[in-house]
Amino acid sequence: MIQIPSTELDLTSDVAHLTAWLIDVDSVSGNEAGIADAVEKALHALDHLEVVRDGDCVMARTRLGRAERVILAGHIDTVPLPAAPGSRGTVPSSWDGDVLYGRGATDMKGGVAVQLALAAALEEPTRDVTFIFYDHEEVEASLSGLGRVAVSYPDWLVADFAVLLEPTDGTVEGGCNGTARFDVRVTGKASHSARAWMGVNAIHGAAEILVRLRDHEQLTVHVDGLDYRESLNAVKISGGTAGNVIPDGTVIEVNYRFAPDKTPEQAEEYVRSLLEGFDVERTDAAAGARPGLQHPAAAAFVAAVGAESKPKYGWTDVARFSALGVPAVNFGPGDALLAHTDDEHVHADAVRACLRALVDWLS
Ligand SMILES: [Zn+2]
Repeated sequence: MIQIPSTELDLTSDVAHLTAWLIDVDSVSGNEAGIADAVEKALHALDHLEVVRDGDCVMARTRLGRAERVILAGHIDTVPLPAAPGSRGTVPSSWDGDVLYGRGATDMKGGVAVQLALAAALEEPTRDVTFIFYDHEEVEASLSGLGRVAVSYPDWLVADFAVLLEPTDGTVEGGCNGTARFDVRVTGKASHSARAWMGVNAIHGAAEILVRLRDHEQLTVHVDGLDYRESLNAVKISGGTAGNVIPDGTVIEVNYRFAPDKTPEQAEEYVRSLLEGFDVERTDAAAGARPGLQHPAAAAFVAAVGAESKPKYGWTDVARFSALGVPAVNFGPGDALLAHTDDEHVHADAVRACLRALVDWLS
């Protein structure tokens, strides 16, 4: 095990060691000032970049007048450190051969290290590049630094294409499913359970909702060349007042992860038609994002990095770019399944390979 000493941030050092340096600066959401300071200082030293800072979001861009502009974005915050003693996915980082352990190793300081190494290495990229290092991704969406700069610096988010360097284990993940939540209510009539015929049992009335959800065929929808598997499920149920009372109300919470060919309104229509006859209320929704891989800039990217394209199921910041009219994909080092685990790690060679692929694409 080698401990990486925290010396000056050197953007020209081996990108795996740069990753270790970034892990060593604890940056749990809400505590990004230190890492943002270091990133800002390192970028300011590069004459070919224009740099601005908004809160703890740091942005830098080339202004070469190229025909295309691309955004390379990553969040600098992490989830909290593991509570279990002896966890290796913590701060400071540690090495076990070629494997780097530490909080953020995969989600996503490896990706941030690649962004920084590119910022230093590409003085004259073939496409103009905007680098975004943003805060508050691992917390509620309303705090997102990316959401904030979309309002405070909208011109910085204008581009032909965006890559989020979230971990994808060497593949390109396009688009993402949307998500919507619904409360489905059944109203009955309370009575003493010894005289049940005087009441109407709302829990029994809800059985049909569960049957329809269980028997419904989950769709797989082909969107722009990728197959998105949908999920429509009851995720919570509540109702009843006491052991001797016929329940007069039941609420079933339903979550629909819908393919990006649908708007939240169309997803709602779909759920309403499936649960026709019941009282359905939409409580929450976020649109998905089409993969946009047929867009010339996106197609050129996939061809250049030579990676397989896959659909993304969870909601990601790709959807924020999509809402701004910028096609976006995830492409970054590390295995997303290790994100937020006590054993978080990344292979040094995966970080180096990601850097090489992006240097090739932009040179
Ligand atoms: Zn992440």
